[in-house]
Amino acid sequence: MLEQIIQAKNVREITKYINRAERCVIVAHTSPDGDAVASSLALKHFLTELGKAVTIVLPDDFPHYYRWLQGSTDILIHKKYPAEAEQIIGEASLIFCLDLNDPRRLGSLAGPVVSSSAVRVLIDHHLDPVPDFCRCVISCPAICSTSEMVFRLICRMGMYEIINLPMAECIYTGMMTDTGVFAYNSSHPDVYTIIGELIKKGIDKDKIYRSVYQVSSEGRLRLMGYLLYEKMKIYPKRQTALLTLTNEEKIRFGHQPGDTEGFANLPLEMDGISFSAFLKEEGECIRLSFRSVGDFPANLFAARFGGGGHRNAAGGTFEGTLPEAIKLFEEVLSVTNPSLFV
Ligand code: MN
Repeated sequence: MLEQIIQAKNVREITKYINRAERCVIVAHTSPDGDAVASSLALKHFLTELGKAVTIVLPDDFPHYYRWLQGSTDILIHKKYPAEAEQIIGEASLIFCLDLNDPRRLGSLAGPVVSSSAVRVLIDHHLDPVPDFCRCVISCPAICSTSEMVFRLICRMGMYEIINLPMAECIYTGMMTDTGVFAYNSSHPDVYTIIGELIKKGIDKDKIYRSVYQVSSEGRLRLMGYLLYEKMKIYPKRQTALLTLTNEEKIRFGHQPGDTEGFANLPLEMDGISFSAFLKEEGECIRLSFRSVGDFPANLFAARFGGGGHRNAAGGTFEGTLPEAIKLFEEVLSVTNPSLFV
């Protein structure tokens, strides 16, 4: 028996909206990660089983190592097909916003989603969701992943039996990727109860691990080596490491979406490093990823850049050049209370 974390009134409300809905759309955040892609697919498979017409629309493309997830090739990418994506959002009667706490995280989809007349439902596990952006807000920061929330929601709706193998694979993928393969953010015993249930549904967890983590390109491994050897900067007094990546370097290493996933965590493997930052040029902006171990609040650090997230994993976007972002990073670091780095 799982702890009842999602409120009963939310379960009633969402059931009502699903029953009434004609056309459903599921959206998630920019640079979609495993949890964003997999929770969207799990929810889509569930709604499809209930006889609903469902389209997943993501702002931009997701990493190739999630293409094996059933249904992923039907995901509509706004950046590639803007007119079609906006038309489908405009025709939706119910829009699920997954794995984000702020409409700005939708990037180019924020406008079409916010101006839509559809009922919006938020399902998310980040802290401090923006109020009033969705009519129904299911926000559970205590839960490891949005994918786990989708599992819990289905169970609370009394539909555990509907969960099939493709849904179970999606749910496990999101839980696995959002916890660094259960290395962090995964101390609630329910996480392992749920994994047990997913195994009963037939998932091959070892195969899922290999499909996501052991499919690197040569370029990704060489880029990793280059960044660690030539680019990593250490701030010993602050127990901090910084990695940076330019657009030119991306081209040089044949960078594909998802190739730098996990890079922000690499410096934390060093003894004595408790905070790690990865600043990456992305088009005209800088994408920021912050990771920490222990009590260092990566989310509060990210807030200085207008971003947010969890205590040990946070991020944001910086409007400016990479040297400007590095300068601001070093300034914020120098005024951060040293006692936090323990
Ligand atoms: Mn997530």
